[in-house]
Amino acid sequence: MLATVIIRSRAAAVAASGKIAFRTRSEEEILDDGYKWRKYGKKSVKNSPNPRNYYRCSTEGCSVKKRVERDKDDANYVVTMYEGVHNHASPGTVYYASQDPASGRFFVTGTHHLAP
Ligand SMILES: [Zn+2]
Repeated sequence: MLATVIIRSRAAAVAASGKIAFRTRSEEEILDDGYKWRKYGKKSVKNSPNPRNYYRCSTEGCSVKKRVERDKDDANYVVTMYEGVHNHASPGTVYYASQDPASGRFFVTGTHHLAP
């Protein structure tokens, strides 16, 4: 059974480690998370046919990074990992996520942009 949690915008990145990973079933590799990102790197992944892409938040002075790659076990899924906490106003995106108790991983089940 999945426990459902609602992660609100900036809180999404505030895991104790400052890292959070999402595994999302998606054809698009770039999920609309409300922030603007700049690609700065690409690396091939051992034992995986899919490259890993690196992005940095495009807001000046913000050091949040994300990594995006297709799940090597199931290419229908995209794994997105965020590192750090945005130091600027969040766009008010709410993530609806479920945590798989077996792996501890979060699954995004939807996003919702709050009205300003
Ligand atoms: Zn940022």
